[in-house]
Amino acid sequence: MQQSTTDLDRALGFAIPSRSARGRVVRLGPALDRVLAAHAYPPAIEALLAEALTLAALIGSTLKDPTGQLTMQTRTENGVVQLLVCDYRGGEVRGYIDYDADRLAAAPEQPTLFALFGQGYLAITFDLATTGERYQGIVPLDGETLSEAAQTYFVQSEQIPSLVRVGIARDGEGHTIAGGLFLQHLPEGEVGRERLHTRLDHPEWEHVAALGSTMGADELADPALPLETLVWRLFNEEPDVRVLASTPLSRGCRCTGDYIASVLSKFSVEERREMADEDGFIQVDCAFCATKFPVPAEADPVA
Ligand SMILES: [Zn+2]
Repeated sequence: MQQSTTDLDRALGFAIPSRSARGRVVRLGPALDRVLAAHAYPPAIEALLAEALTLAALIGSTLKDPTGQLTMQTRTENGVVQLLVCDYRGGEVRGYIDYDADRLAAAPEQPTLFALFGQGYLAITFDLATTGERYQGIVPLDGETLSEAAQTYFVQSEQIPSLVRVGIARDGEGHTIAGGLFLQHLPEGEVGRERLHTRLDHPEWEHVAALGSTMGADELADPALPLETLVWRLFNEEPDVRVLASTPLSRGCRCTGDYIASVLSKFSVEERREMADEDGFIQVDCAFCATKFPVPAEADPVA
């Protein structure tokens, strides 16, 4: 059987200058599989992390600084999820979720955002490596989906009219495929961070948002539809749509044995001995990728 064309693990930027809009479309396949394969998450947690990683890729790929980092992290209270972290840097995504298995077992099969996070908050942090700038915004997790919270972040914290859509599906072989669309209204252009306090109506944006809202979750997550086709489907009647850079996406983790050893060196020798197994090694797992780092408890951190 001939393999049909697939468009996976890629982010595509585009701009509609006549409407003062910019956008990103992304699709994740094997990269997502690699993140999920490091853990054995139940379906509801897997779907949540897939959505979070898609959002990280959508938002992260808008960073102009190629070494800049986008981090999403939740704060939760009395929900299934204790911690969700994911980040994006230079086309690499990674993430993990700590959850309470008992609470998940008691939750419905498709838990609401409130069941997942309780009184939850989503923090979105931008670290611009070249200038050393860092800015962060926090929004409550009180909508229907994580994507909705991300959209609220841009509308409330950054005051940029924005639209965020994510679709998640499984292919015939059971692999998770995720796709996303992110549209923003930037009437002052992309340079600077001008605010829109003085503007009350955005007719150009209403048009772009109305078109963007027609994008189906099934289209976003269909690997047979190239990202350019998605953009064309939405905006083919616009006079000028510019396709910008395309970024390959991958699962990337920055854990190293040296880093783990430097963290452990902050503990006293006695504490390290208590953490060690019978062979004298402290077994540390990277929370993101589950790589195991055995560190000798007796190692002299100064050596
Ligand atoms: Zn790792």
